[in-house]
Amino acid sequence: MFSQLLEEIGATDPTHRAILDPATEEIIAYAPERSVADVDAAVEKARQAQKAWAGMGHAERSRLLLAAADAIDEQAEALAQLLSRENGKPLSGPNARMEVAQSSEWLRATAGFDTPGGVLVDDGKTRATISYEPIGVVGAIGPWNWPLMITIWQIAPSLRMGNTVVVKPSEYTPLSVMSLVHILNSVLPAGVLEVVPGGREVGARISEHADIGKIMFTGSIRTGRAIAAASADSLKRLTLELGGNDAAIVLDDCDPKQIAEDIFWGAFINTGQTCAAIKRLYVADNIYEEMCGALAEIARNVPMGPGTDENNLLGPLQNRQQYEIVARLVDTARNSGANILAGGEPVEAPGNFYPATIVTDIEPDNALVVEEQFGPALPVIRYSSIDQAVEWANSLEVGLGASVWSADRERALDVGRRVEAGTVWINSHAVPDPRIPFGGIKQSGYGLEFGAEGLKGVAVPKVFNG
Ligand code: NAD
Repeated sequence: MFSQLLEEIGATDPTHRAILDPATEEIIAYAPERSVADVDAAVEKARQAQKAWAGMGHAERSRLLLAAADAIDEQAEALAQLLSRENGKPLSGPNARMEVAQSSEWLRATAGFDTPGGVLVDDGKTRATISYEPIGVVGAIGPWNWPLMITIWQIAPSLRMGNTVVVKPSEYTPLSVMSLVHILNSVLPAGVLEVVPGGREVGARISEHADIGKIMFTGSIRTGRAIAAASADSLKRLTLELGGNDAAIVLDDCDPKQIAEDIFWGAFINTGQTCAAIKRLYVADNIYEEMCGALAEIARNVPMGPGTDENNLLGPLQNRQQYEIVARLVDTARNSGANILAGGEPVEAPGNFYPATIVTDIEPDNALVVEEQFGPALPVIRYSSIDQAVEWANSLEVGLGASVWSADRERALDVGRRVEAGTVWINSHAVPDPRIPFGGIKQSGYGLEFGAEGLKGVAVPKVFNG
């Protein structure tokens, strides 16, 4: 189904790096690994293409972004099949097909936003306006968990604002991203969108390159810090979407049965490998047992297996390293006396499958609570006072998303105002919307993506006064 795409992106040469299916450990294809010199060549192409791209104006660029969205839709099933094999995420549910569909939806939404800027002062004596101009060449460095969607999040606003882009996909999921870029390039002018697959040296070169004016980065806190340091000499603008450890607080007036399904998917979306998923759940004493029971019931019954089986809704961990992190944290919790209410026993089969796991009666400072597990294991912590729950929620260095759950929206908002996070959802979690800005605080990074704020983030402001 996707063999044509693999041929077109040159991923059939067995001397290149083998990419394994995380569900079966079979080789899917071979990814070329590019060098630092290839980065320089790609940046130069993007630099040369940028003036003409900026000169086209918003209407023409938006038209091309809409055409690019159509091109994705035409290849949607092939892309989803490839993504499912390379990343492991199932085709069905909130997974591969959804990710592909959201990628074209995001492009369309971004093509349609009003351009930011306008009149600042006009009082008869002074007239001042602000406009947002292209930066030049943007570097887009991404992770493996939502490789297509995050690439689109980075490139759609950048292109819309008249920048050209050099993309560096994660070394774990290069095939999906190279295919995406290949499809987009069937519509975009040459040089506007370049992709350079490779390891961290490729990312490091992008971070320091003098001809790149902005980095859009999504990934770990550690790498975010390395990029900030490497880009300091050239004073690049940065948007850093880094790690999270999102808290969800369930208030004492909730009906556990009614919210269990939404909480489960808020935590286990993409088999838990989502930056802004629920990673620690604080539940009021009076409904604690019932909430844990309802979540465990779902965890035991959601089908997990190879992504290409239409019935499965949970898949393997994308890579062995991530599997080891999840297994270690659950073992630490078990050894400390916490209760494994569902899952917790690794599956004896090929692939990186770790069962959906609910851990209860766990201390708030347990490693499974305070470290980012980034996988299918949810610690549920009991609280007896809301002040205590808020204090625990705010006790970590990260602040990406959070959510508060209550039958009374005003009560939830009151609590939400006290929670330190870039986004606080009320009675939902991890539902991104192209119109609504998204970004972290504290060590989860800085800069906003999406909507008009996202467009500003990939532009430089210019003020006219007089
Ligand atoms: P990672 O930081 O290991 O890798 C991300 C990318 O950075 C890869 O392409 C990698 O090759 C590149 N890279 C590595 N070293 C580099 C360097 N020195 N300079 C430049 N680039 C370098 O992250 P990951 O393991 O792929 O992703 C998982 C992490 O990403 C989790 O912490 C997760 O929370 C976070 N994440 C955050 C968001 C968000 O929106 N905030 C979204 C998804 C994932």
